[in-house]
Amino acid sequence: MNILVLNCGSSTVKFQIIQTDLEMMKNDSERCLASGNCEKIGSEQALYGMRATGSEGIKGVRPLRDHREAICAIFDWINSGQAGIEGVSSLKDIQAVGHRILHGGERFTKSTLIDDQVLQGISDLIPLGPLHQRPQVMGIQACREFMGHDIPQVAVFDPSFHTTMRPINYLYALPYEYYERYQIRRYGFHGTSYRYVTQKYAALTNTPIDKVNIIILHLGNGSSVCAVKEGKCLDTSMGFTPLEGLVMGTRCGDLDASILPFLMEHAQLDGKGLDDLMNKKSGLLGISGLSSDMRDIEEAAVSGHERAKLALDMFCLRLTKYIGSYFAEMHGAQAIVFTGGIGQNSPIVRAQACEGLECMGIDIDLALNDSLKRGTAGDIARADSRVKIWVIPTNEEVMIARDTFTIIRNAECGMRNSEFVMRNA
Ligand code: ADP
Repeated sequence: MNILVLNCGSSTVKFQIIQTDLEMMKNDSERCLASGNCEKIGSEQALYGMRATGSEGIKGVRPLRDHREAICAIFDWINSGQAGIEGVSSLKDIQAVGHRILHGGERFTKSTLIDDQVLQGISDLIPLGPLHQRPQVMGIQACREFMGHDIPQVAVFDPSFHTTMRPINYLYALPYEYYERYQIRRYGFHGTSYRYVTQKYAALTNTPIDKVNIIILHLGNGSSVCAVKEGKCLDTSMGFTPLEGLVMGTRCGDLDASILPFLMEHAQLDGKGLDDLMNKKSGLLGISGLSSDMRDIEEAAVSGHERAKLALDMFCLRLTKYIGSYFAEMHGAQAIVFTGGIGQNSPIVRAQACEGLECMGIDIDLALNDSLKRGTAGDIARADSRVKIWVIPTNEEVMIARDTFTIIRNAECGMRNSEFVMRNA
């Protein structure tokens, strides 16, 4: 089955076409046939790049007013006859679509086949994350418009992995009515990545999934940590929105909430201004004054840029603190697992995050850490380290394709959504 995986962000669309079947799923050998993205959607100078695997593809700049237009541009390329995608000469060769959806609220606890009611349910959750959820609804509608209303579409909700959290983990210590009235609680994000990495760790280490006790650090432009106990989420650092927790590219992470009314009074910032400040101008960018990109920060820090060094140190110290607190909360862990663009590629961050954790039996092998080949999985702990330290490249797109395939197959076998039991969910 060829599955289009769509990931609509606030001003981006990323896609992959993934070929999968039961055998490929079992062997973790799905194939990415094509991939691409559109960025700066909403501008006259939007960027696009698309390529069939193994080919040069196309890229350029063009106006893309909204996500519908971006998806239309991707579909035009697929239908052009020039894309050179193996086994896909038009949209007709794609059998299903899997969507990454930011919010499932408390209603959607697992991946779900999209019908009119589900689409309405996803739209109803727009207030919880308008910047992402709205374009994602538009993505589903665009697929119906261009691929036919009956094209099977599956919603894979980012927080669904975290629905096993207990109230002591997901509640904020605000008056309880605020949870009841406004559903203000910790939801957590990056759940699709955590589910993939948990399964991959289980396979790599031959551990039954319900015996997996690990702390996963997903470090990318957005970063979070997840305590996985018995294969399920016990706790995670992102909260009501993806702002809470770690220092990120442009987000501040944990903050004393009283800073907000103080800034409203003294810096004349309104809600929108505060949101911008905390989500777009803070984190690595805000501290360094230089860049939100970890590669730039590391390079500048090494060449003596003091605030880049400070940003790097703050980023890593927050990681160390979360590892320590989750280790205590879980009563110990088998492994710390690094993933995401930074986790997979930055020996500097991995080494610094583990600094001082020898006292907890977490002992990194600096030579292994430095020499691990990019894009590969490996254990970088010292041989005598009580706790292992793994690097496992994540693959959210494959996870979305697997859910899509499984749900559609089950639906074809006459099962209702409610009877669907996700592997290891
Ligand atoms: P997203 O959260 O958008 O999916 P990614 O997971 O792709 O992001 O991670 C992007 C981050 O990974 C950026 O901060 C980038 O600098 C960082 N990164 C990528 N390669 C390296 C590298 N070789 N060394 C350090 N950081 C890297």
